[in-house]
Amino acid sequence: MDLQVVEQVTRLDEWIAEGGVTVLSGAGLSTDSGIPDYRGPSGSARRGSPMTYQTFTGDPIARRRYWARSHLGWRTIGGALPNDGHRAVARWQESGLLNGVITQNVDGLHQAAGARDVVELHGNLARIVCLGCGELTPRAELGRRLDLANPGFAAVATAINPDGDVELDDAELTGFAVVDCRTCGGVLKPDVVYFGETVPAGRVTRAFELVGSARTLLVLGSSLTVMSGRRFVLRAVKEGIRVAIVNRGVTRGEPYADMVIDAPLGVVLPNLGRTPTAADF
Ligand SMILES: [Zn+2]
Repeated sequence: MDLQVVEQVTRLDEWIAEGGVTVLSGAGLSTDSGIPDYRGPSGSARRGSPMTYQTFTGDPIARRRYWARSHLGWRTIGGALPNDGHRAVARWQESGLLNGVITQNVDGLHQAAGARDVVELHGNLARIVCLGCGELTPRAELGRRLDLANPGFAAVATAINPDGDVELDDAELTGFAVVDCRTCGGVLKPDVVYFGETVPAGRVTRAFELVGSARTLLVLGSSLTVMSGRRFVLRAVKEGIRVAIVNRGVTRGEPYADMVIDAPLGVVLPNLGRTPTAADF
């Protein structure tokens, strides 16, 4: 780390030690877990256009194509493990330094690292919701049903997006069978917020509460490109709450933040919020 970053990290460490930190995390926190951040400097532009709610619900062929790709993508997302960044956040919470955790990620890795009461703005890929009856079921169960319904399906994904969608030749999708809700026969959808959908109001309210009651808003791995994340920074600024951003690459939160650390999260985060031991000197 260069000297400027070392000085910033030292100051951020003091802010975290004061407690009352609300974390807002984005895709950049999960890249070290093998989930690409298509907006970050290492991620290329997203491959293909993202599924919209309107297409998913209105076009059975697009839905079939989605499930085939997503079924493959889940092998990566579902098998991903939390990294040092997720573990640092969980450790701060355990130490009583956190006011709350808000995430834009749908990978569940904060919880896998031990964090509790995480506000998942965009939902979680590990849950499936029935659009007919609203029943929630585990993704693993759907995975087993899709495996049974598609015994010969051996397509291999060439690239994966952080929303679990993958790139796949259309030829490999032929004949992929989608399964429906076992309770009502309704359409099943990952319990995540698609483009064209709004984040459920209760989640937004809870997230604004966690921002408004914080001493420091700490943004981890989000370029804040979309307003769904940037609005929390704007709220913090309006309420005079300190904003720190740790992100690899350019962030649109830069004009509003009290501190921006442009460095790998896996290097910075493990050094924060720890009581120094003899081994550190
Ligand atoms: Zn149902």
